[in-house]
This record gives sequence, structure tokens and C-alpha cells, in this order.
Amino acid sequence: MSTTWHVLGAGSLGTLWATRLARAGLPVRLILRDQARLQDYQAAGGLTLVEQGQSHLYPIPGETCDSPQPIQRLLLACKAYDAEAAVARIATRLTPGAELILLQNGLGSQDAVAARVPAARCIAASSTEGAFRDGDWRVVFAGHGYTWLGDAGHPTAPIWLDELSASGIPHEWTTQILTRLWRKLALNCAINPLTVLYDCRNGGLQQHRCEVATLCAELGELLQCCGQPDAAQDLQQEVERVIQATAANYSSMYQDVANQRRTEIRYLLGHACAVANRHRLALPHLQQLQLRLKEHLQLHGLPSD
Ligand code: NAP
Repeated sequence: MSTTWHVLGAGSLGTLWATRLARAGLPVRLILRDQARLQDYQAAGGLTLVEQGQSHLYPIPGETCDSPQPIQRLLLACKAYDAEAAVARIATRLTPGAELILLQNGLGSQDAVAARVPAARCIAASSTEGAFRDGDWRVVFAGHGYTWLGDAGHPTAPIWLDELSASGIPHEWTTQILTRLWRKLALNCAINPLTVLYDCRNGGLQQHRCEVATLCAELGELLQCCGQPDAAQDLQQEVERVIQATAANYSSMYQDVANQRRTEIRYLLGHACAVANRHRLALPHLQQLQLRLKEHLQLHGLPSD
């Protein structure tokens, strides 16, 4: 009998994972915030995944954090700012040797979660897949991609990777997950805050090449300083390539702000600036960018952390 995949967070990525695992015949249970959300979910009859215009309903069983069932494998699919509190709520349900897969973008939340549940194995993920909600309990699979998984403390791959293959979830185990997360964070810092401040699509940053280049130079310094030279390799070229390749897109941070949603700034630009401060590394343009972004968020009535 396969181990149950408990999925905490029935948002975009949580739904994308839960529906594909369930479709492959694997046991999946959704963990929802509270009784009200559970009742709402049960009334909807399950999660709907929309793929290439086709919707399919998956009647995955749901429960709340307070359910008594033990958890051996947990996919944590909430936002970075909710991760630590969400794990604290289910901590007593974790079995000895439980495994957590952390889907959060950026850095900082993974360490906070691991400190909350020191006996569990925490596996970090970095994903280029894209999905968005077009209604409650409905998710559109918007961009095919890849998910890298790794555990900075233990290089051995977990046994359930073949279940991801059986579910059609493209993935790779890596011993360099921190490098992947840092690289993605650096790309995010060089692009997303500026798209918010200049109110533009990614391609709009082609008008601000000097500013982008200056940020890339500081981010490169930071990556070198915190022992991530591979993540610094050709950063500016990749940033320029991403800006060009995604010119017509709005960045995720832009979309969060435009939709009055809290951003993950603390785990992205905020984390970069905090680590620089800890290393007493002066990165004036990055710090200035953080100040400008915080001011902008406050002006729009959004949390600035
Ligand atoms: P999302 O759509 O906002 O979903 C997050 C879900 O977590 C929500 O359904 C929320 O519940 C739930 N949640 C929060 N706290 C909870 C708790 N204590 N108990 C139960 N459920 C809880 O977020 P997302 O877009 O999937 O993003 C998740 C992470 O993946 C983020 O770090 C994001 O940056 C990263 N990521 C996303 C994508 C993407 O395409 N979406 C791509 C790559 C990486 P409510 O519905 O009740 O609020």
C-alpha cells in the first residue's frame, strides 16, 4: 500500500500536484484551513484541474489540520509567509521520520519550517511549472515546466520519486537545491520588483537595462559572499534572456500587487537584503530597491514584509 500524500494548501500548486497524483491512482488527502473551508470544498465535490481547455473534477478527500490521522508524507503547498504557521498546526500529527516537501518560492521559509519540526526530513523544491486559480477549487495548468527537489542535509533521493514519474510530474533530484533556489531568487530580485515599480510587463525592463545590470552585479556579489558562486554564473545574461523570452508576461509579483494580494517579498528581495546585512555586505542599489518596493506596497495598502 502506498503512503498517503497529504497536501496542505489547495491553491494553484497544491491542486496541480494533488490532481496529478490522484489521477495516477495514488492515495491523496487535502488539508484545509478550517471547518468552513472544508465544508465549502465538500460542497464543490472536489478539485478541478483545467488543462488545454478541458476541465476534470477529482473528488480527493479533504480534512482540516485538526484531523487525527497521522502524516507520513506532507506536500506543503501554501505561500512562504504561511508555511511556518501551517506546519506548526499539523506538527503533532507527523510520524517519526515523516517527510515534508516544501514548494515555497524564495528562501527563509524552508529553514523556519525545518526548525519547527526538527525530527522530520525536509525536502525543498524549486519549480518552473505555472498554474493559477480561475475560481474556488479550480486551477488552470498554465505553463509546463520542471521541479527540482533536494535535501541540503542528505544527498540520498527519497523512494517516492517514481510516484512522481507515474503521475507525469516532471522532476529531477539534485544535490544542489540551494544553488537552484538562490539562482531563482536572484532572477526574481532583478526582475519582479522593477516590474512593480515601473508598472510594466517583463519586456518593459528593456528600457531599464543599466539599472538591471547594476542589480545583477550586486546580486552576484551577494551570491559569491554566501558561498553560491555557481548561482552567480552569467546571472546578467540569464536575466536579460528571461526578460526577452517573457517580454509579454506580467511577473508574479506584479500580478500579486495588481490583484491586491500579499507578496512574498520577505522571502525574495527581503531575504537577499537580510543576508547581505548579516554578512555586512553593502549593496546600496538592492537596499534602495527594497525601500522603494516597501513604500510602494504600503501605498497600495499591502503588507511590506
Ligand atoms: P496559492 O494559490 O495562494 O495557494 C496557497 C494555498 O495555501 C491557499 O489555498 C491557502 O488557503 C492555503 N493555506 C495557507 N495556509 C494554510 C493552512 N494553515 N492550512 C491549510 N491551507 C492553507 O499559492 P500558489 O500559487 O500555489 O503558491 C504556493 C507556493 O508555490 C508559493 O511560494 C509560490 O511562490 C510557489 N510557486 C507558485 C507557482 C504558481 O504557478 N502558482 C509556480 C512556482 C512556485 P486559502 O485558499 O484558504 O487561503
